[in-house]
Amino acid sequence: MQACHTPLQNVPFAQVPLTDAAPNGVKRGGKVRFVTVRAIALVLGVCLMGGSATMAAEPRVTARPLSLLPESTSFPVATDVRVGGDDRQTRFVVDLSEKIDVAAFTLADPYRVVIDLPQVTFKLPAQAGEHGRGLVKAFRFGLIMQGGSRIVLDTKGPVRVDKAFALAAAAGQPARLVLDLSATDRDSFLRNITMQDRSLRLSSKTSLSPEPEVTADPRPLIVVDPGHGGIDSGTKSGSGQDEKDIVLAFGLMLRDKLVKTGKYRVEMTRSDDTFIPLDERVRFARANKASLFVSIHADSIPRSEGQAEGASVYTLSPHASDAEAARLAEAENKSDVIAGVDLSTEPNDVANILIDLAQRETKAFSLQFARDLVGEFKATTRLHVRPLKSAGFIVLKAPDVPSVLVELGYMSTKDDLVHLISTEWRSRTAGSVVHAVDTFFAPRMAGASTGAR
Ligand SMILES: [Zn+2]
Repeated sequence: MQACHTPLQNVPFAQVPLTDAAPNGVKRGGKVRFVTVRAIALVLGVCLMGGSATMAAEPRVTARPLSLLPESTSFPVATDVRVGGDDRQTRFVVDLSEKIDVAAFTLADPYRVVIDLPQVTFKLPAQAGEHGRGLVKAFRFGLIMQGGSRIVLDTKGPVRVDKAFALAAAAGQPARLVLDLSATDRDSFLRNITMQDRSLRLSSKTSLSPEPEVTADPRPLIVVDPGHGGIDSGTKSGSGQDEKDIVLAFGLMLRDKLVKTGKYRVEMTRSDDTFIPLDERVRFARANKASLFVSIHADSIPRSEGQAEGASVYTLSPHASDAEAARLAEAENKSDVIAGVDLSTEPNDVANILIDLAQRETKAFSLQFARDLVGEFKATTRLHVRPLKSAGFIVLKAPDVPSVLVELGYMSTKDDLVHLISTEWRSRTAGSVVHAVDTFFAPRMAGASTGAR
């Protein structure tokens, strides 16, 4: 796609004049803040076609098979992106294969601008988003749910969205999405946020299947949770592999191997490249009364912090077992911030759940499975020097589902990366997880009288 890439310096800020009219602009307080809500309607429309989603004050969107959606070739394509301007005013432009509707809103702590779009295929230059310009520090883009894409800009400080609009192709220029930002102060920024129509931020309510299926199947349900997805790529290797892809490939293989035993029911929080909020993963496991939740990740550390290698297994605890565990939990818990999920309306109940005494039994089971897993890994893969750790991972907080988070290895370590991208290693290591699951459930499956799940 390099052919599509136009170097920044060749595209002056003024190429798309600031005086361009914002079609469908909604004026509020004398400033055009949102272009249109049609993008949201479009996204919702696509989602609702899938079936059982219910539209209420806070729309919920159901995950559904990809086959219900148009072929990916029919999605508009984003071909290039430019950022121009300075610390007072910055323009963000995306070239598109066709005109689409856009909606933008801002989020605080950290300062972000979120642009919601109908589903778009991103074919942007490889390094796009790593470095910004002017008020934009960096940005990322990707699927936020089936039918909806998102771009999240990290800004250097509080900003105001002066304009957000789309232009049809004209005069040899492709269709474009244009966002104009200007610097503002924190008070004005926060005032603007409270004025924003909360219904615009629907995609923070993306949810997995809302109602658990009633099943007479007595086999224990295992939820496999590949981390990250869509707009949240997770960590990256030096050679450009994304954590989200590596953990999805592992998760799919693990699912297949578990299903093959015939002993378990298996569900995945995601089986494609979609973003799922952390809370939603937990809610999914609880609503479906899972007997075990296994979250799959891969770690990386900056070169300046030295070398680390091997797999680790984490359980939940309010106090991190060491500094590395604390660092990792902080990084993994950022997923929702990265995806531009609006958390301001969600009560933060992590602290309460962490001290919930009802967790005691779950905690013991989680630890037991973590030990089983480390025992199995010893025979098949490289382990971290301290393979069993704990920290405050949001995704492990279900009080009634034994939950572990597996870090398969370090994408920043060459030898680990060789494993992580090898099908043979993946198969062997997923096999170890199956053995650990067998060990974990054996006593309970042998005698139902134990009362354990
Ligand atoms: Zn991760």
